[in-house]
Amino acid sequence: MSTYQAIVVGAGFSGAVMAERLASMLGWKVLVLEQRSHIAGNCFDKKNEQGITVHQYGPHLFHTSKPRVWEYLSRFTTWHPYQHKVLARVGEQLIPLPFNLNSLHLVYPAEQAQALERKLLDLYGAGAKVSILKLRETAEPELAELADWIYQNIFVNYTMRQWGIKAEDIAPDVLARVPVVLSRDDRYFHDSYQAIPAAGYTALISSLLSHQSIDVHLQQNALQRLKLEQGQIWLDGEPFSGKLIYTGMLDQLFDYQFGELPYRSLQFVFRQLDYPYYQTATTVNYPNAPDFTRITEFKHILAESSDGSTIVTEYPQDYDKNDPEKNIPYYPVFTADNQRCFEKYKELSAQYQQLIPLGRLAEYKYFNMDDAVDNALQQFNRLCDKMTDVGKKA
Ligand code: UDP
Repeated sequence: MSTYQAIVVGAGFSGAVMAERLASMLGWKVLVLEQRSHIAGNCFDKKNEQGITVHQYGPHLFHTSKPRVWEYLSRFTTWHPYQHKVLARVGEQLIPLPFNLNSLHLVYPAEQAQALERKLLDLYGAGAKVSILKLRETAEPELAELADWIYQNIFVNYTMRQWGIKAEDIAPDVLARVPVVLSRDDRYFHDSYQAIPAAGYTALISSLLSHQSIDVHLQQNALQRLKLEQGQIWLDGEPFSGKLIYTGMLDQLFDYQFGELPYRSLQFVFRQLDYPYYQTATTVNYPNAPDFTRITEFKHILAESSDGSTIVTEYPQDYDKNDPEKNIPYYPVFTADNQRCFEKYKELSAQYQQLIPLGRLAEYKYFNMDDAVDNALQQFNRLCDKMTDVGKKA
């Protein structure tokens, strides 16, 4: 019989927060099974020989407007204040992204920019954030032309490359993440809390997992140890009576019985430079480059000084579970068909009372880090409520 009351599969943000709550609030003994040789999932970071903290699976910039998430995480880390800025290279120009009033004045001649600004402010109000798809609906001819310029120069090619499908086929929420902003605020995010864990994400996750009732086992293929059959969960060949918190892909957990759910993967190409700076912003997007989307220079994030620099270029690609170069799922692909397929897996998962699918992969959702934390906290509360109900009925 297992001594654990919960098994958490995956040591990323979702799994780590849930493990921490179960251990510290309920006093449960928790086993975390992680397939990689390190914790922290795709937030994993570490200092390289140049003394620069590199995000191994692409840039992670924490931001939230949820005080409860901020307060919760602040128990496990101190913060390095950081406001993320992104520039987009369009033709020969570098313009602030999200496209804002400063971008407008860089792209259009002064008088025309002024006229467009007035029309935008009249229609939507100062400070408004308007999704590009909404802006494209405008009947006003000059604004329609501006919307078309932004759509064609910023969104169409980048989105095609990022997702492998046309911009009109991806869920509108995806493009709405980068709205047109009617202000001169050049920050990428506008949340009330924006900062990076001062000692890095790996240290933060390590702190979450440091409770004495949590055991973390790395390089574990959880699916080889678990079996789900007729509503019952088995661990190492014995019936398991605790909770299974699963943060991997639901289609894989259920042996792809309704087909494979599409994911998007990325190839990261790192370069170490022997000069101090490559670019002025942390991230520069290349909306119209042939095969990559953006370049990030890490030293900007924690303001680390060094003679050299490290940059990473992102090349999107389809996820392929059988190809070691493409077998890391980074994003679910948000289309109506894929959502329908996911719903089948979700229904099946509901037949297992002990099972809690959790996080970006298992819930097939575009969670930011703060959403993942908030969602894990809420799922934990829901679990507590259910246990109280059962207790009351007993
Ligand atoms: N996007 C775009 N051009 C850009 C930046 C973003 O078309 O220069 C679109 C693209 O479809 C992308 C989505 O907006 O997937 C969301 O961008 P975000 O920066 O939030 O993506 P993430 O950082 O999560 O990859």
